[in-house]
Amino acid sequence: MRIAHTAAELTEFLRGVGSVGFVPTMGALHEGHATLLRQSVKENGATVLSVFVNPTQFGPGEDFSRYPRTFEADCALAEAAGVAVVFAPAAEEIYPEGWSTYIEVENVSAPWCGRFRPGHFRGVATVVHRLFSLVRPTVAYFGLKDLQQFLVIQRMVRDLRIPLRVEGVPTVRESDGLALSSRNRYLSAEERFHALVIFRSLSAVKSAYDGGERDVSALLAKAGAVFAEVPEFKVQYAEIRSLPDLGEIPRVEGEAAFAVAGYLGKTRLIDNIILRS
Ligand code: AMP
Repeated sequence: MRIAHTAAELTEFLRGVGSVGFVPTMGALHEGHATLLRQSVKENGATVLSVFVNPTQFGPGEDFSRYPRTFEADCALAEAAGVAVVFAPAAEEIYPEGWSTYIEVENVSAPWCGRFRPGHFRGVATVVHRLFSLVRPTVAYFGLKDLQQFLVIQRMVRDLRIPLRVEGVPTVRESDGLALSSRNRYLSAEERFHALVIFRSLSAVKSAYDGGERDVSALLAKAGAVFAEVPEFKVQYAEIRSLPDLGEIPRVEGEAAFAVAGYLGKTRLIDNIILRS
């Protein structure tokens, strides 16, 4: 496994490798990231993992400066997964002096996290586009844990006709249902326990849906009853929207998703479940 810190090294290491699978991350890797990496390794000639805590996707007061940085452990996990190249650029490599160009994906960026994290998806789309242009992958892998991010990237790739395939990988969970997240390490034991309310709310909505309920208010009422049991979890949003456009819907007719975001103490967690028959 090679480690590239500059775009020039990256290009050199990727010369003649065939199809390139790409997994962009902010590091602090866990089994969710490992799952993306293993899928990429299986499907491509070489896999590139990027580790870059992207400043432009954090808002003021968010956790940019305290985001966990565990580069040694990330490299060990990457090597075990079969990664060919770890791309770990400095901020100036991604955003050279005077950088002034940003990508705004409208509509799908607006609801859910977009409402509460202004500029977040602009930062995500910009850095992913920049990384795509440096890595030039054949396939890029994104976790459905960050469903809205996946939809934003998918839209950007279609709109800009970027020649690559975007793969969505199902959410990897702990045995009790909590979605793996680099931010889970911020949780105290008590918060970790309360965090189970998120998966319980997803399960309540899913089982009502599986039982034939299609009315969005009725489905959300199931989640509301679950949240009421754990007042420590401060819900930011809990909404059902259509896929892939994230439109507002009164009933679930085609594909839709139920997404939740909220706080346990200072830690913001998100999760979602796709509703399809
Ligand atoms: P991150 O660096 O954690 O923001 O995410 C890097 C990539 O890993 C994104 O495509 C995430 O959606 C994906 N990812 C993070 N957690 C999980 C998970 N629990 N299951 C599947 N993919 C995940």
